[in-house]
Amino acid sequence: MRPSGKMGHIPMNQPNSPVARRFRAVLRHSRDLTETTKHLEWEVIEGGKFDFLAGQFVSMTLRGAENEHTRAYSIASAPGADGRFAICLNRVPGGLFSNYLCDLEPGAALEFTGPHGFFVVRQPVERDLAFIATGTGIAPMRGMLASLLAPGAPLDRHLWLLFGVRHPETILYREEFERLAATHPRFHFVPVLSRAPEGWTGERGHVQEVLRKHFSCRKDFEAYLCGLKAMVDDVRTILKGEFGFDRRQIHYEKYD
Ligand SMILES: Cc1cc2nc3c(=O)[nH]c(=O)nc-3n(C[C@H](O)[C@H](O)[C@H](O)COP(=O)(O)OP(=O)(O)OC[C@H]3O[C@@H](n4cnc5c(N)ncnc54)[C@H](O)[C@@H]3O)c2cc1C
Repeated sequence: MRPSGKMGHIPMNQPNSPVARRFRAVLRHSRDLTETTKHLEWEVIEGGKFDFLAGQFVSMTLRGAENEHTRAYSIASAPGADGRFAICLNRVPGGLFSNYLCDLEPGAALEFTGPHGFFVVRQPVERDLAFIATGTGIAPMRGMLASLLAPGAPLDRHLWLLFGVRHPETILYREEFERLAATHPRFHFVPVLSRAPEGWTGERGHVQEVLRKHFSCRKDFEAYLCGLKAMVDDVRTILKGEFGFDRRQIHYEKYD
């Protein structure tokens, strides 16, 4: 699976990314986030210390008798001292790797390489940030937000999370984000439902429309986008064409 986000050199203002290496990890915890989405927590047991930056991804390996499969999964947690990391994934109908991972029992081990990718928050944070995700595109943003909003992390900018899903029950990590918003006055959590039920008082439709509504005429912020190609491409077009963004203000990772 080829990562299709913006690749290349890390910008000058970015701390050096740890070099990708091969590791082995054990699944310690698996929980359902929805009927078709899982949160998996791994502990690295071989390969040394696994250093990464919030937002990067791992490339997991599944070895068959004759061939080997690899798939990319964004790290859905912030770096910690405990050698653990999480991923968040959808069970794709007919999908080889996602079904294998979703069916794994705690105690199972897997090889992976990492960390990969340059979808990380540019430092220092000098402008407000808008994180725009759909579905499991929330994974890297969960890690980024946990880092930015960690106790003791100084932050004087506003952070927005526009999160597009279909139904209220598919707002992944909803309680977590609501808790963060309740404790950080500068963090604004905006779930956007494309199939909102009656009585839903939040935003409806698509993240694209909500972006126009909340940010129209502003070009003094940076945007981080993650999800399927169609959404990411659409939002990039809006930001560049309608908002007048410079391409360096837009950072993205596409899952396709
Ligand atoms: C940089 C990067 C990070 C990624 N991070 C994540 C992540 O955090 N969480 C996550 O769930 N996925 C993520 N993905 C997607 C992931 O790598 C796999 O593509 C996905 O899990 C499907 O793999 P599979 O082996 O189950 O499906 P495959 O056996 O490869 O495909 C089976 C069928 O499903 C279709 N398909 C593949 N992916 C999807 C999809 N996402 N939705 C609908 N249909 C699909 C294929 O076109 C094919 O027809 C990421 C991809 C990239 C490039």
